Amino acid sequence: MSDNRLDSEAGCNVVNGRVLLITACSGLGFNLAPHFGVYQLYNYLIKKGIPCDLYDRDLEQNNWTEKGEEYFTERISQGFYDIIGISVSHDKVLGEQKMVEDLNLIWRLRSLTGRCEGRPIFVAGGQAAALNHEQWLNLGIDLIFLGFAEASLYEFCHRMLTKPKPSKTGKHFSDIVKGIPGIAYRDLKGRMLYVPSKLVTQDSFRELFYELPMSYEMPYHDFWDLLRYRSANQQLGGSEFIFENVRIYSTSHCPRRCGFCNSQSFLTESILENDELMATHENHETVIFSKGKMKIIQLSAPELGALTLHYTEKYGARSFLFSDDDLLVGTKQGVNRIREFCNLVLEYKALGKIAKDVRFSCQTRVACFLKSKKEVDRELIQLMTDAGWLSCGLGVETFSDNMLKAPSINKMGITSKDCRNVIDAMLDIGMVPQINIILGIPEYTPKELIETVAIAIDYVIKGCDIGLARQLLALPGAPMYSASKYKLATVSWKHPVTGEEIEIPDYFIPLDPKVAFALENFDEAAQRELDRVMEVMGWEGLASPKRVIAVCALTALLRLLNMPHLTAKLEEKVTMALNGVLKGEFRSQ
Ligand code: SF4
Repeated sequence: MSDNRLDSEAGCNVVNGRVLLITACSGLGFNLAPHFGVYQLYNYLIKKGIPCDLYDRDLEQNNWTEKGEEYFTERISQGFYDIIGISVSHDKVLGEQKMVEDLNLIWRLRSLTGRCEGRPIFVAGGQAAALNHEQWLNLGIDLIFLGFAEASLYEFCHRMLTKPKPSKTGKHFSDIVKGIPGIAYRDLKGRMLYVPSKLVTQDSFRELFYELPMSYEMPYHDFWDLLRYRSANQQLGGSEFIFENVRIYSTSHCPRRCGFCNSQSFLTESILENDELMATHENHETVIFSKGKMKIIQLSAPELGALTLHYTEKYGARSFLFSDDDLLVGTKQGVNRIREFCNLVLEYKALGKIAKDVRFSCQTRVACFLKSKKEVDRELIQLMTDAGWLSCGLGVETFSDNMLKAPSINKMGITSKDCRNVIDAMLDIGMVPQINIILGIPEYTPKELIETVAIAIDYVIKGCDIGLARQLLALPGAPMYSASKYKLATVSWKHPVTGEEIEIPDYFIPLDPKVAFALENFDEAAQRELDRVMEVMGWEGLASPKRVIAVCALTALLRLLNMPHLTAKLEEKVTMALNGVLKGEFRSQ
């Protein structure tokens, strides 16, 4: 078994077919970017000599490639592929549950393979697949990869493609997976097997997130051109929008315990035995946490600096988004890493190694900007701003102290005042906060929800960006996922072969009936409001600006709550905010 090192770029004497990797379909227009995880896997396999094709569903959805479903359908029908890998989602985007879309695609493709000699094996990976492996294995996937899957996927492909096909020798694919870590599958007898992943080490992390991305071509220019072509007006946000943006992943995982979030469980669950998994614990009222423990691993400041130089020189990148869940994670050490990186960037800019207007953004927690006595770390914000930090996403979630402590949020030790202090300091210093808010917290009373909307809209007017999560999604692997306290809304999907109706967990139904009604009808109402604005602006067919989507959504929410005695004034303010945003006002930069 190979470890994660790139030990060979030579061919692997393939005797069988090829591998097809299929990206997730984000469904969003304003933040299109190459699907980092699938491009990584594709290039990892190619470098090790595995013949592989990539089907990018985001490019297809935007008519930006000729190689869409029709092209690959033809090749699948002709038996080109022995392995078809798909990055599946359990996510709701603008009202659509993406798992349904993925299941439909899987079964459309499966229906083509009946005529192939030796059916391809369908594999899946990523957070949604790994943390809900049992359901995906029941619904059309043969083999799931857990955690960071590059080495295990390579090993599987190598075995499948270099030896006689299992189907030709009367074997089941599960006969050849022995010894491969980080997989879940059903064997020929239908037994579910879960084989833990290896621990992520500094070396393996460095290889995957530092060496590998610098060793291949990423189609950034295609995506930047597409964004320019598709965007209605990207300059209506609180901060300047730069098309030439590259995403950097620099931290293995976030160790926090927010009740709704499953990012924390992706790696920690991958290293456990089957009987230790969260899914095996029944009868819990509110939240349970993964028992897996893994050290946080990060790229160093000089490595981040080298990546920045690489992308600016090679592609002309002018902006970097650190896509870590929490860039400053690791308290003192995490903050020191970013201080060191900022000083490096200032040095590069002074020496002319990168342009002075290269910008950065990230997401992190409010607590990372608080010192020991909850004093805001203004020096850190100032240093990041000086280095070019354009904006900073903050997982605020709510401005209600009660909700911050609710099990579904579980942001202990942070208050609404702390959040506002950090946001105010950022605005004062010149960094644009992007405030991430969840509207559908199940414990919300209408009054608490309205208070949060009121504070959020004030911040839009002051120049903040706002990122809205609508309903609180039921994400497999989240601490609250199977809690008895919360009621789930599900979507139905009919299995095309068995005809069975499958219920897919969708979101948590708010406990208050008025909030529940608003969230149940929210997606359609928000879309109607957005369509109206897009038509008024003459933007039909283009990707709506993110801040316009958010303010339209707040307009719809207040109407649905139908409590004019509480919302009349606020509705006027939201309308005023929308008009201002559409005129390009309320911007900090
Ligand atoms: S919401 Fe953010 S801070 Fe909380 S566990 Fe998830 S990634 Fe970590």
